[in-house]
Amino acid sequence: MIAHINDIVKQNADYTFFPWAAQQAVRPLHIKSSKGVFLTDTNGKKYLDFSSQYLNVNIGHSDERVLAAIERQMRSFSYISPSCATDIRGELGYRLASILPGDLNKTLFTLGGSDANDVAIQIARKYTGRSRIMTFRRSYHGATLLSLSVSGDPRRNIISGQLLDLNVQVENPYFYRCPWGSTTEQECADFCIAAMESALLENDPATFAAILVEGESGSSGCIKYPPFFLKQVRQLCNRYNVLLIADEVLSGFGRTGKMFAVGHHGICPDILTMAKGLTAGYVPLGGVAVSDSIAATFDYAPSPGGITCSAHPLGCAAALAVLDIYKKDQLVAAAAAMGEYMRVELDSLADKHPSIGDIRLNGLLGCIELVKNRQSRAPMATPHSSPKEMEAMNRVAAALLDEGLFTIVRWNYLFISPPLCITREQIDTALGIISRALEIADKYC
Ligand code: PLP
Repeated sequence: MIAHINDIVKQNADYTFFPWAAQQAVRPLHIKSSKGVFLTDTNGKKYLDFSSQYLNVNIGHSDERVLAAIERQMRSFSYISPSCATDIRGELGYRLASILPGDLNKTLFTLGGSDANDVAIQIARKYTGRSRIMTFRRSYHGATLLSLSVSGDPRRNIISGQLLDLNVQVENPYFYRCPWGSTTEQECADFCIAAMESALLENDPATFAAILVEGESGSSGCIKYPPFFLKQVRQLCNRYNVLLIADEVLSGFGRTGKMFAVGHHGICPDILTMAKGLTAGYVPLGGVAVSDSIAATFDYAPSPGGITCSAHPLGCAAALAVLDIYKKDQLVAAAAAMGEYMRVELDSLADKHPSIGDIRLNGLLGCIELVKNRQSRAPMATPHSSPKEMEAMNRVAAALLDEGLFTIVRWNYLFISPPLCITREQIDTALGIISRALEIADKYC
């Protein structure tokens, strides 16, 4: 048993890999315990978790009710293959059908979000008999070869040269940095739809299986869709007989103040992928929900998926307990209310800090975009910044941690995405810490 912190970190570094990182550059926290919105490190230092750990732990950390459900399941059976039927799996499918939009009535369970998107793409290709997938340039759909190949995230550079060539990417409707120089959100949306339609036509619409969009953008900077944009995307899909896949892995389960982010747009996708908030990360589990007509394709033809630990009983038990918690603690409404409260407080932070370029928040899915200059909107850092150019953001990140706030600081984005059970007082504490850290960023303006 290793007790000393340096030894813990060293043993992790010597014998395990940290994801997405040059191993020598990693300076990980060493977490001993977690509860509610707090993490505690091996020294006993507490951190308010403003990241929900990859926007995953929606209900808060270490909830006894989930623990009890997992334990109950464990005592009955801890594992059974996904080829067997279980009461919890059937009930989970039934409960999901009752909260999912439209006729997304059947769910294929996976291990997580990446393989959910892999399976969604395989289903779309099988159903349509077509191969191409359209995605946005600023998007993340997962770390497996297929899901990373269709993502636009710079993390794909890690395996560049090995990516699968089946997707066509278009620019996002990113109004703050509109690729088409629009002056209104609607204009930005219209340009984007026109770009999507041109991409379909240039590549032959009959070769596209699906347009894959995030329910709401997450790790690429929480770029908000303009009003009615997803409706226009839905119409585009209908016009060209292309399926619409909504990746709700990050945006689902209350994160944006609705159970699913597509609920803000009044549309129903043909396929919806989920993970993260499904179990709030207590046990890995993901899912691919499909419409009735897509489900029928597999009545007499084999379905894809089927990883040994998919539909894991402990995951299903955790998910059922987590769904109960969303309902009983009214966490979806809480996320909407806390998001509105935070929006007002953040707007007053923007008056004080010239380094705040844009604030994008919906429910509790949000980030602050930091700039060196508000007029030119020059970003405080980019994915291509040198270590020297990362200095401001690194100092902000260090100041946050120093004062006990844990969040994701990525390029020039600072994530404001706590668990949905956060209180106003905890938000006030966090924003006080963020305000003090931004004084550092202001000096680089
Ligand atoms: N899709 C989106 C929108 C995500 O944000 C993520 C992860 O952050 C994934 C898919 C991949 O999910 P997982 O990490 O569970 O494989």
